[in-house]
Amino acid sequence: MVVGIRIHGRGGQGAVTASRLLATAAYYDGKFSQAIPMYGTERRGAPVTAYVRVDDVRVRERELVHTPEIVMVLDPLLSTRQTMADDMAEGGLLLLNAAYPPEEVKTGGNIRVATVNATNIALETLRRPITNTAILGAFAKAVGWPKLESIEKAIRKQFSGRIADMNVEAIKRSYDECSEVIPAPVKIAGESEAIAVGGYGVLKDVSSWRVFQPVIDMDKCTGCKNCWIYCPETAIKWTDENKPEIEWRKCKGCGICVNECPVGAIEFKRVEIKNE
Ligand code: SF4
Ligand code: SF4
Repeated sequence: MVVGIRIHGRGGQGAVTASRLLATAAYYDGKFSQAIPMYGTERRGAPVTAYVRVDDVRVRERELVHTPEIVMVLDPLLSTRQTMADDMAEGGLLLLNAAYPPEEVKTGGNIRVATVNATNIALETLRRPITNTAILGAFAKAVGWPKLESIEKAIRKQFSGRIADMNVEAIKRSYDECSEVIPAPVKIAGESEAIAVGGYGVLKDVSSWRVFQPVIDMDKCTGCKNCWIYCPETAIKWTDENKPEIEWRKCKGCGICVNECPVGAIEFKRVEIKNE
C-alpha cells in the first residue's frame, strides 16, 4: 500500500536531502519510492517542504502528497504549529523534532505523535543544527522501516569519509532516543494556517524551462485522460469537447504526458528559440 510522507524544515536543515535519503533507503529495503522536493524561495531559514512516496509496486503518481500518512518536522519551532498536522490521514504519524516528550505535544488531531530531540543530536554529532539525519533514525524506529542499515547505505552513497561517519552516528542516536509513539494528546490546537510552500508551475510561470514541448494530435486522442492524470504540474486542462488542452504557463516540458499517452497522440517537439 502506498505511504505518503511530508517533510517540513527550513532552508539549511536538509529537508530535501532527508527526502532523498528516505526514498533511497526504502529502495534498498526492496520498495519502490519517489522523492519530491518543493523549492520555494531558496534561502537559509525559509520554510521548505519535501515529499516521499513509498509503495510495494511502481510509483506512477507524481502529484504532491496531499493527505500524508506520515509527517516529519525537522525544525523545533515549526514543530509547535498546528498547521504541520493539517491534511494528515486519519491515524497518521506526526514525528517532531522537539525537546519534550510526546505527551506535551500541542499539535493535535486524530493522529499519533512521537518526538526526538534532533537538534541536540545534530549539534552533538555533526556540530551543526542540520537535523535531517538526526531525525531519520527516529523515523525508522517510530515507523518500523526503513532498516537502519538501509539508511546508513543511503548516507554512505550521499556522503563520504568523516561526514558520512558523523551522519551515521546521528541516525543511530536518533533511533535510540526516539520516544514512544502515542495517540496525539489533544484533538486540535492553536490557529491553523496555510503551509507556506513554494511552487512549480502551480504558482509560477515555468514556460521558460521548456526545451521540448508536447504537441497533441487531437485526431489520434481517445480522451483517456492519462496525460491529465500524470502531468506533475496540472498543466493539462479538460475541455468541454472531452479533450486535453495544455496551459503553457504551467508546462515545464518534462515529457511525462508523451510517455503516458497509450496511443502515441502526443509528440515532443523542440521549442524554437528566437534570438530577439
Ligand atoms: S510536458 Fe506534459 S506532463 Fe510535462 S508539464 Fe508539460 S503538459 Fe505536463
Ligand atoms: S493520454 Fe493521449 S489519448 Fe489520452 S487524453 Fe492524453 S492525449 Fe488523449
